[in-house]
Amino acid sequence: MSTRDWQGKHVTVAGLGVSGIPAARVLHGLGAVVTVVNDGDDAGARAQAAQLEAEGIAVRLGDGATLPEGTGLVVTAPGWKPDKPLFTAAADAGVEVWGDVELAWRLRGLDGREAAPWLAVTGTNGKTTTVRMLASILEAAGLRTAAVGNIGVSLLDAVLGEDKYDVLAVELSSYQLHWAPSLRAHSAAVLNLAPDHLDWHGSMAAYAADKGRIYEGNTVACVYNAADPATEDLVREADVVEGCRAIGFTLGAPGPSQLGVVDGILVDRAFVENRQKHAQELAEVSDVNPPAPHNIANALAAAALARAFGVAPAAVRDGLRAFRPDAHRIEHVADVAGVAYVDDSKATNTHAAEASLAAYDPIVWIAGGLAKGAEFDELVRVSAQRLRAVVLMGADRVLVAEALARHAPEVPVVDIDRTDTGAMAAAVREAAGLAQPGDTVLLAPACASMDMFTNYNERGEAFADAVRTLAAEHA
Ligand code: ADP
Repeated sequence: MSTRDWQGKHVTVAGLGVSGIPAARVLHGLGAVVTVVNDGDDAGARAQAAQLEAEGIAVRLGDGATLPEGTGLVVTAPGWKPDKPLFTAAADAGVEVWGDVELAWRLRGLDGREAAPWLAVTGTNGKTTTVRMLASILEAAGLRTAAVGNIGVSLLDAVLGEDKYDVLAVELSSYQLHWAPSLRAHSAAVLNLAPDHLDWHGSMAAYAADKGRIYEGNTVACVYNAADPATEDLVREADVVEGCRAIGFTLGAPGPSQLGVVDGILVDRAFVENRQKHAQELAEVSDVNPPAPHNIANALAAAALARAFGVAPAAVRDGLRAFRPDAHRIEHVADVAGVAYVDDSKATNTHAAEASLAAYDPIVWIAGGLAKGAEFDELVRVSAQRLRAVVLMGADRVLVAEALARHAPEVPVVDIDRTDTGAMAAAVREAAGLAQPGDTVLLAPACASMDMFTNYNERGEAFADAVRTLAAEHA
């Protein structure tokens, strides 16, 4: 596209917010006639609207349903549900709807700019970690790159900004994929698929179909999780460029066209000559930080995408070694009296909590919070053997307690019946009393945090503070 295509074009941006405001500014800057529509009109929205209007961008507050007269394109915030009246009106008028990712994809290469290829990652859990591992590997290979999406640089900045990139490591949510029909990644990975956001997508099938869009038009590799057949099904259904390969990753020994693990070594049997007989060593399991099973899977997925892009084995190892996980994702806080304290506050759903519970044994588990409609039976059933004891807190803790009573009746459970600022400290103290040397006290709530905390960061900080207090007492 060129700037000329945008001049005088009437674009409606749906939603003031982290994606809408930058999109409106970029489009205005290209010469489009932009109107932002927003459902809410609270004080925050009014302040943002005043700012945009001062820059020459029209804003309509309190009505995100009606399509402004003359709209030629709608650019929506990814979170807006597809069944909104605005989108019905757009469809009736023959007007296209793009999400923030679609907009960035279309603006890629604008006015002859260099267009870096995208290595894309989606999945229910592990996206941010994998994309950051991938960026670390690409950097170790000497490539100009960035982790983009929910983290680091925004997609629009990466595509239009001053910095030049050889390749981008892109995190994509199912919402973003829903609204990105023409996206064509160089290679892409779906890490795993568990029920999530079903109220938005309408059904598991629709959720899977949106995730599967990430494979459409891939040119080199579609990376799937061999332990999660639903991800391989999505590869089979995708329409890719001829010659694009399906590449699996597995925690076991890899078959041909897979990456996997043999005797503590991450190996590649996909991007090697003579893959029937030969495997290439990439890194050691201990190079992965932390070396928990689900995180080794993330590392293999990142390695597969990097190898698809032609990165040498030594850079995979160096990139994994250099990688540091983000805060509150299986973060080792301290050892106190022979007990390890681990903060996985980011485990906000049962699928994530199951992965981190699988990484330790025996565990004193701190859980609970807002369940968001989740059920805990499966999680408790598969984890019961590892549980020394459980400390429950938060609004929906009774749901976890009921699942424990059904599937792990012998495991002691302590109920923290308070929601004040001292609640987490009380939970940690109870956990310390239940743990024995060699155990891990693991905060992996399997629930959202907003009943008691601003977000999972604050919850994780409260845990870490309590652990540090405990450590100081033992010093
Ligand atoms: P996302 O960006 O998809 O939310 P993150 O990388 O931020 O994922 O990890 C979120 C949480 O999900 C982690 O704290 C961990 O508990 C869990 N997790 C990470 N990777 C995986 C995986 N491959 N499978 C299952 N759970 C995972």
